[in-house]
Amino acid sequence: MFSTMQDVPLTVARILTHGATVHGRSTVTTWDGTGPVVRSYAEVGARAARLAHALHDELGVREDTVVATLMWNNAEHLEAYLAVPSMGAVLHTLNLRLPAHQLAYIVNHAADHVVIVDGTVLPLLAGVLPQLGDTLRHIVVNGPYEASLLDGFTGGVHAYEDLIDGRPDAYPWRTDIDERRAAAICYTSGTTGDPKGVVYSHRSVYLHCLQVNAADSFGLTPRDTALPVVPMFHVNAWGMPHAAYMSGANLLMPDRFLQPKPLAEMIDRVRPTVSAAVPTIWNGLLDELDAGGHDTSSLRMVVIGGSACPPALMKGFEERHGIRVVHAWGMTETSPLGTFAQPPGGLTPEQEWPYRLTQGLFPASVEARLIGPGGERMPHDGESAGELEVRGPWIAGAYFAGQGKEPERPEDKFSEDGWLRTGDVGTITPDGYLTLTDRAKDVIKSGGEWISSVELENQLMAHPEVAEAAVVAVPDEKWGERPLATVVLRPGATAGLAELRAFLAERVASWQLPERWAIVEAVPKTSVGKFDKKVIRADYAADRLE
Ligand code: ADP
Repeated sequence: MFSTMQDVPLTVARILTHGATVHGRSTVTTWDGTGPVVRSYAEVGARAARLAHALHDELGVREDTVVATLMWNNAEHLEAYLAVPSMGAVLHTLNLRLPAHQLAYIVNHAADHVVIVDGTVLPLLAGVLPQLGDTLRHIVVNGPYEASLLDGFTGGVHAYEDLIDGRPDAYPWRTDIDERRAAAICYTSGTTGDPKGVVYSHRSVYLHCLQVNAADSFGLTPRDTALPVVPMFHVNAWGMPHAAYMSGANLLMPDRFLQPKPLAEMIDRVRPTVSAAVPTIWNGLLDELDAGGHDTSSLRMVVIGGSACPPALMKGFEERHGIRVVHAWGMTETSPLGTFAQPPGGLTPEQEWPYRLTQGLFPASVEARLIGPGGERMPHDGESAGELEVRGPWIAGAYFAGQGKEPERPEDKFSEDGWLRTGDVGTITPDGYLTLTDRAKDVIKSGGEWISSVELENQLMAHPEVAEAAVVAVPDEKWGERPLATVVLRPGATAGLAELRAFLAERVASWQLPERWAIVEAVPKTSVGKFDKKVIRADYAADRLE
């Protein structure tokens, strides 16, 4: 028997029309370097309509046309986020930290027809123009820019404000579009090989939004101000912009000011309640806050994910600044909300820590299983490790192979029965808490035993004089692989390697202790701010070590 319920598609246009009316008074504030620039959600909705008219009437954007953005987190980016999918076109967020050849690759691969670009990053786009095919027909520039940079471009060049000026404030949004159609494309950051495109549907964006807004996730309400420090080109800023617009939470957009000082200043002045970023950014912010002089009491929660959050970082925020840090796990392929580390009820703060230090719980819509080295299912007993596989309504089932082509399902990424193979290795407790011990490719295989690089890093980063630590596997004649620890010391640190080794020796089994050490200026980072272990491995190939 089928239900008797209405079959209403879940679309981005519904988020847009709801936010622009019911939450019309809520605001998006963009930090412009000196202070806040405020725009109401009603204005954002009206400007999104003007943008859609311009894209349709002037730039030839139709259903399925790909419109890319190369932008920081700002109000205009939010307008594109809402307008492009809601008119039936597809939003492609370009990662402005990708190397030039990869940026060109994804613009060509997705067949971007328009790029909306911040004037401040136009030099980056101008630099890759010679590598672009002829699908790109229009460039729309947001804010002041140097026009001569685009001299060689044969398509149309438009200033954002001039383009949308004088157009109608309402648009026949596609609330009726098939919810399974494409709303947005995001490419993985391509740490191995070419970036891979994940195409989010209207349905997946909508359902993910509801989950982001759930109480034990970000739990956004109109009483919140959300500060997405994670860029809008990195898995849709973890869903925060859409979720804020849907729930009426105000947004504070940091634009390109992602350094510790301006972040601390905008928190102090605009008083966000919720924020989210990768650990490397929060590490820098913690140092800035420790130096004193900033009021961060507005923050009720900061979400840290994207790579393992060192316990020392979580405790530092909480104990020294009263800021509750919540650990979360996800990936481009999971929209990204996979787990959120909220503790069970009825525990003291001390008893909560073991739960909060895990990657957390999967929401009801995401199923998880662990697969052992021989392909067997591993029990969820909190001890047996395996590769994590997931499935659910906002989890990718394939990669984008290009317009008009069948999606690709590479065997190493998707199981035969359609689950996403995450490449992450970990355990799950009987009550559902995920703990990741490594990425499959980062785990250190030493004499038949696995050493967790994350565990060694976390222990090292608990040393007060260690700013960052990254541990990688290096080839070893006797053991196959052994750990190499690279450490960044804090300014003025006096600890030497012998002291760090002794510190670690008290905390991990002796056979896990690295023999190879290096003190470095900085840990190399990927385009989304994670430790780039591929580069570290190459830099410290075995023959360069004592
Ligand atoms: P890329 O794979 O290119 O780095 P993603 O941003 O999609 O791009 O990264 C997803 C990966 O980041 C996950 O598969 C996992 O390895 C890692 N990751 C994300 N969150 C966490 C976390 N909380 N703890 C440990 N690893 C994490």
